[in-house]
Amino acid sequence: MNTEELDACDLIVVGGGGAGLAAAVTAAERGASVLLFESEKEFGGSTQLSAGMFTAAGTSVQEGLGVEDTPERFFQHYMDLNHWLLKPGLVMEFCRAAGPTLEWLIGLGVEIPAAVSHDAHTPGLCRAGVEDVWRGHVPKDQGLGLVQVLLRACRANGVELVPNTRVERLLVEDGRVVGVVADGMDVRAGAVVVASGGFARDRDLLDRYYPAAGRAGGDLFVVAAEGSRGDHLRFGEQVDASVAGDGWGLLLPTAYFQRLHHWQSGFPPKSRVHVNARGRRFMDEDDSYAVSGGIIDAQDGPVHAVFDERARRSLPPGYAHWTPEHVAAEADAGRTARAGSLPELAAAIGVPADALEATVARWNDQLPNGRDEDFLRDRTLAAKGSDAAPDPIAEPPFYAARVLPAELVCTHAGLEINGSAQVLDRRGETVPGLYAAGEAGAGVLGERYVGGGNAVANAITMGRLAALHATPAGR
Ligand SMILES: Cc1cc2nc3c(=O)[nH]c(=O)nc-3n(C[C@H](O)[C@H](O)[C@H](O)COP(=O)(O)OP(=O)(O)OC[C@H]3O[C@@H](n4cnc5c(N)ncnc54)[C@H](O)[C@@H]3O)c2cc1C
Repeated sequence: MNTEELDACDLIVVGGGGAGLAAAVTAAERGASVLLFESEKEFGGSTQLSAGMFTAAGTSVQEGLGVEDTPERFFQHYMDLNHWLLKPGLVMEFCRAAGPTLEWLIGLGVEIPAAVSHDAHTPGLCRAGVEDVWRGHVPKDQGLGLVQVLLRACRANGVELVPNTRVERLLVEDGRVVGVVADGMDVRAGAVVVASGGFARDRDLLDRYYPAAGRAGGDLFVVAAEGSRGDHLRFGEQVDASVAGDGWGLLLPTAYFQRLHHWQSGFPPKSRVHVNARGRRFMDEDDSYAVSGGIIDAQDGPVHAVFDERARRSLPPGYAHWTPEHVAAEADAGRTARAGSLPELAAAIGVPADALEATVARWNDQLPNGRDEDFLRDRTLAAKGSDAAPDPIAEPPFYAARVLPAELVCTHAGLEINGSAQVLDRRGETVPGLYAAGEAGAGVLGERYVGGGNAVANAITMGRLAALHATPAGR
C-alpha cells in the first residue's frame, strides 16, 4: 500500500463481498479514488457462497418473459410481507433501485437469460414461493459469478483492493468519520462505507441480536462466510449508531442431522409429510424458505418429516447427509425414529397415533393424485418444475426425522441506515462520513425474507446507493 495515496482517498470500503464490491465499483466509475479492505485472503464473503439470486422488479429479464412488474408493486408486497415493520421510505428507495442495479450488473457482464428457472442453480427467472410475480433473478455462475464480474470491474476502474486486512476500527474526529484503522495504521478518506457483512459467526452477538439461532441448540450450523464476525456492530458503538433489524435473520429448516448447506447435504424425499406434535400436517413441505422456518417455529413442540422405506431408498447418491445409507445409519443409532407401522412410529415420536394415521391417509389420498387441497403443494412442485406426483407413504418401515430451523444463512441486525445508506445515530441523525450496506446496513432486510434473492439484492443495491451518495459528485 502507498500511504500518500491512502491519505488522498475519496472512499474507503470495509469488506469485499457483494455490498462492498458494488460500492467500490460504483464510486470508481464516478472517478473517485477507492480503497477496499477485505479481512480474508479471498474476496467475496457470503455473496460468493450464495446462489446469487437477486430480487428486483421491472427488469429486462422479466420483460423478456412477459412478466409485468413495477417497483411500486414490489414495494407493496415487500411491506405487506414484513407487516409494515420497516421504514417505507427506505424500502421504497431499495425497491426502486433494485431493478436499475440489476441492469447495471448485466451491463458489467453478469449473464441472466430471459428463461424460466425452476431452482437457484439454473440461470434465469425463478420463483421462491412468496412473490406475487416471479422476481428471483439467478445469474450464470451464481454468487461466484457476481463476485468475479464485480472484481473485474474494480480492477478495470482502478480500485485499490487490499485483501487479508481486517479493519480494526473507525477513525472519528469531532463526530465525523474520517477514515479507518487497519494494520495499525490510520487511513483517511472522504467517507467510509461499512460493508463487512453479518455476525453469524459470533456466538455472543447471536445471543444478543438473533436469539432465535440459539433455540436450535446443538443442531445450529452456520453457512455464512468466515468473515461474518459482526465488526459493523463494534464500529457502530464508536459513533453511537442506532441498531435496526434486532432479532431478525434467516434460518433455513433442515433435518437435525444436516450440517452443510443443502447443495452439499442433499434434499429430503419429495414423498414426505411434515407433522407437528399433534400428529397433524400444518404446512406445504416445500414452502418457501422465506417463510418455512417461521411456520415450523410457530408450532407447539417438535416437528418431524415422516416418510417411508421407498422414499429412503430413492434418495439420490452423492450428497453428504440425505442419502439412503446416512438415513439408515441415523435410524440404527436411534436418532431418526424407525418403525414397522404408523402407530409404532407415532409412539416413538410422541404424537397421537390416530392423528398420524389420519394425516398420512389424507396425504396419500391427495398428493400422489396431484392434488393438495389443504396446503396447495401441487402448485409449489409445479413452480419447481417437479412434474411427477409424490409416491404414497405406504411401504414400511416408516421413518420420522426431526426438522427445525437450524441452518444460519444471514443476520439482519445492523447499523440503521436511511434511503441514502447513511448511518443514523440513536437520535436518528446521520453520522457524517459514515455509510453502511448489505447485512452491515440494516433496515431493508426485515422479519420475513422476501424470497428469491432478498439479501443479495439488498447488498448490491444498497452498496451501490451508498457509493452514489458518498462519493464527491453525489455529496
Ligand atoms: C450458502 C448461502 C447461500 C445464499 N444464497 C443467497 C441467494 O441466492 N440470494 C440471496 O439474496 N441471498 C443469499 N444468501 C445471503 C447473501 O449471500 C448475503 O446476505 C449477502 O451476500 C451479504 O452480502 P454482504 O456484502 O453484506 O456481506 P458478505 O458478502 O459476507 O461480505 C462481507 C465481507 O466483509 C469482510 N469483512 C468482515 N469484517 C471485515 C473487516 N473488519 N475488515 C475488512 N473486511 C471485513 C468479510 O470477510 C466479507 O468478505 C446466501 C448466503 C449463503 C451463506
